[in-house]
Amino acid sequence: MSRVTDFINLNLNPSTIIAEYIWIGGSGLDLRSKARTLSTPIDDPQKLPKWNYDGSSTGQAHGNDTEVILHPQAVFKDPFRRGNNILVLCDAYNPLGDPIYTNKRFDAAKIFGHPDVVAEAPWFGLEQEYTLLQKDTKWPLGWPIGGFPRPQGPYYCGVGAEKTFGRDIVDAHYKACLYAGITIGGVNAEVMPGQWEFQVGPSAGITAADELWVARYILERVAEIAGVIVSFNPKPVPGDWNGAGAHTNYSTKSMRKEGGYEAIQKAIEKLGLRHEEHIASYGEGNEHRLTGLHETADINTFSWGVAKRGVSIRVGRETEKEGKGYFEDRRPGSNMDPYVVTSMIAETTILWKP
Ligand code: ADP
Ligand code: MN
Ligand code: MN
Ligand code: MN
Repeated sequence: MSRVTDFINLNLNPSTIIAEYIWIGGSGLDLRSKARTLSTPIDDPQKLPKWNYDGSSTGQAHGNDTEVILHPQAVFKDPFRRGNNILVLCDAYNPLGDPIYTNKRFDAAKIFGHPDVVAEAPWFGLEQEYTLLQKDTKWPLGWPIGGFPRPQGPYYCGVGAEKTFGRDIVDAHYKACLYAGITIGGVNAEVMPGQWEFQVGPSAGITAADELWVARYILERVAEIAGVIVSFNPKPVPGDWNGAGAHTNYSTKSMRKEGGYEAIQKAIEKLGLRHEEHIASYGEGNEHRLTGLHETADINTFSWGVAKRGVSIRVGRETEKEGKGYFEDRRPGSNMDPYVVTSMIAETTILWKP
C-alpha cells in the first residue's frame, strides 16, 4: 500500500520546480501563499514571473476589478518540498502598477534605497517572540485547560517536561529556516510558559524584514503540521504574564566604527523626539504589553539605559565598553510589521533632521 508521504517524496525531473509564492494579506499580519510550476530553476526574483490573486478574498480589494499583482522580491529554498523548489516572497500591486495600501515593503524599499541610508549600511537583529496555543481552546500550549501554570520563574530558557512546551516545533522551525537560507541567529524559551523567541540577523537593510516575514511563514507552516496555533498577540494572557515583543537591534556604519558611541547617542536622542510616532507604528495592542512591568518601559515615556531592561532603548554593556556597536529598541510588539519598524528607525536616525 502507498502512503501519502510516498507521494510527497516522489522525485521530480530536476528542471521541474515548484515555486510557493508568499504574500501578506489584508490584516497586515496574515500570510497567504499558493504554488505554481516553473520549468527551469530561477533564483533571481526579478526573473521570476509576476502572478496575481483575488484581492476580494484576502480583504484587499472590492468592486469590479479585484485582481492584485504579485511582484517577486526575494527567493529562499523551500524546506517543505526541498530539492530545487523555492519560496518566493512577494509584494502586491494593483494592475496599474501602484502598490496596494497594505504593501508596506514599497515605502521601506524606498527608504533603504536612499543614497544616505545605503551609505550608512544599516543592520538589524530582530527578536521575534511568539506564543504557541492549543488548537481547540486557543489557550497556551502546556497550560491546564481553564487554569494556569505555576507563576513565571522556571520557564525562561528552561528545560524539562513541566517547563517547556513545543520544543519540537521550535527546533523544526530553526532548522527549516537555516535550510531556507534565512540568517536565524538563535532560539530560546521565554519567560511565559508556551512562549518562545527566535532571532533574525544581523541582516542589512530590507533583507532583515524580508527574512523575518519568511521565518514567520515557515513557523506558521511547521505549527500547522503540528496542529498548533502561532499567536503574535503582544499580550496573549492578561495579568502577571509576560507579553511578547519584537526587540529591534540596530546599528549603522557610523555606530560600528571606532568612536561610534557618539552616533549611537545622537540616534537615541532623535528616537526620543519621535517617540509617539514610533509607538503608533510598533504594533496593535502593544499598550497592553508596554506597562512598565515585565521588563518593559511605560508606553507614554521614552527612556534609555545601559544594560537596563525596563527602558525603551537598551544599550548593551559591551557597546558601552567598546565605545561602538549597536542598540536595542525594546518597544516593538510581536505583531509589528518589520518593513514599517526597520524603515522608520532608519528614516528617523539617518534621514530626519530635527
Ligand atoms: P537579548 O539579550 O536582548 O535577548 P538577543 O541575543 O536575543 O538579545 O538578540 C540580539 C540581536 O542583536 C541578534 O539578533 C543579533 O543578530 C543582533 N545584533 C548583533 N550585533 C548587531 C549589530 N551590530 N547591529 C544590529 N544587530 C545586531
Ligand atoms: Mn533575545
Ligand atoms: Mn526575549
Ligand atoms: Mn532583547
